[in-house]
Amino acid sequence: MEYRRLGSSGMYVSEIAYGNWLTHGTQVEEDIAIKCVRTALDVGITTFDTADVYAGTKAETVLGKALKGVRRESYELFTKVYWPTGEGKNDRGLSRKHIMESVHASLKRLNTDHIDLYQFHRFDVETPLEESLQAFEDLVRQGKVHYIGFSEWDASQIKSALDIQKARGWTRFVSSQPQYSALWRVIEKEVMPLCKSEGIGQIVWSPLAQGLLSGKYLPGKKPPAGSRASDKKVGSGMVANWMKDDILQAVANLRPIADAHGITMSQLALAWALSHSNVSSVIMGASKPSQVKENVKASGIKLDAQTLASIDSALGDIPETDPTKNVSPNPRA
Ligand code: NDP
Repeated sequence: MEYRRLGSSGMYVSEIAYGNWLTHGTQVEEDIAIKCVRTALDVGITTFDTADVYAGTKAETVLGKALKGVRRESYELFTKVYWPTGEGKNDRGLSRKHIMESVHASLKRLNTDHIDLYQFHRFDVETPLEESLQAFEDLVRQGKVHYIGFSEWDASQIKSALDIQKARGWTRFVSSQPQYSALWRVIEKEVMPLCKSEGIGQIVWSPLAQGLLSGKYLPGKKPPAGSRASDKKVGSGMVANWMKDDILQAVANLRPIADAHGITMSQLALAWALSHSNVSSVIMGASKPSQVKENVKASGIKLDAQTLASIDSALGDIPETDPTKNVSPNPRA
């Protein structure tokens, strides 16, 4: 495993991070979830990403259990706040009230006294930005949170927050958590250049496009049993937008490129995302320890310019590049 600094901060993260959305507390049983985390630690993953909202708060509890007894200084724990964690009008968004209540609940579930990276899970169009930033600043000063970041913000939202942080002398963001994969490249035109110049690293989600880029879904074929696309509870709904024959065919075009390099399609997809210098880490998901072991081998693979160009031409016009596709729906709507 290779490690990179998170943006311009002094904290190192593993190039491959493990995230537990849609798996812990939902799709996979607790013993498998714990095995995935333990396997991740064994193969050098030190960075773990979760959120208060995942599996209706159960995912944080499972991760807390899985990391029990592991030396706290040896891993980096990331979580987030914004999406609803209860029925109430204040159980969501980025008000000071919800941030303060949610962070304490997360700390309890994660069984720790600090979070290494606390992230705004979206942009809250209702709460004054200064109120949310002040709450994060206070958490940093209290030592409950070490670094701060955001997820799925557009360039103008990032710029407004940086201006406030600069004017107040507050702690600066070190990370951005956008969706980014060979199929979803909407951050390349605006978010990445801004973040790069401001010392903000990308820790990208769904780098395998929820498993699509592993090549296991084939055009015209039913999804394999046990896969996210076959999970009728939650997973299939989440991955539905990707399950189209033209997209699956474009993905299938990548197989000869992976074969020529002697690597799997998942490793190719993760190495692709890591090839951008503004990416600090790719947060992969895994429903089985074997996936963790396979995916982690992407760390350290360097794809040359010719390979990157052949990936572009294999995918044609399928990848989404429109920067207006970063959206933060109102959590109270
Ligand atoms: P991926 O794109 O890495 O998809 C992971 C899924 O793909 C796995 O659960 C597994 O599903 C399948 N898979 C993984 N490896 C392989 C393999 N080698 N072969 C075959 N199938 C494989 O990421 P996720 O969509 O899971 O997201 C990763 C993390 O990103 C989340 O856990 C979360 O931490 C973060 N995230 C953040 C969001 C945000 O808004 N900030 C939104 C979404 C995610 P299966 O076996 O079930 O098919």
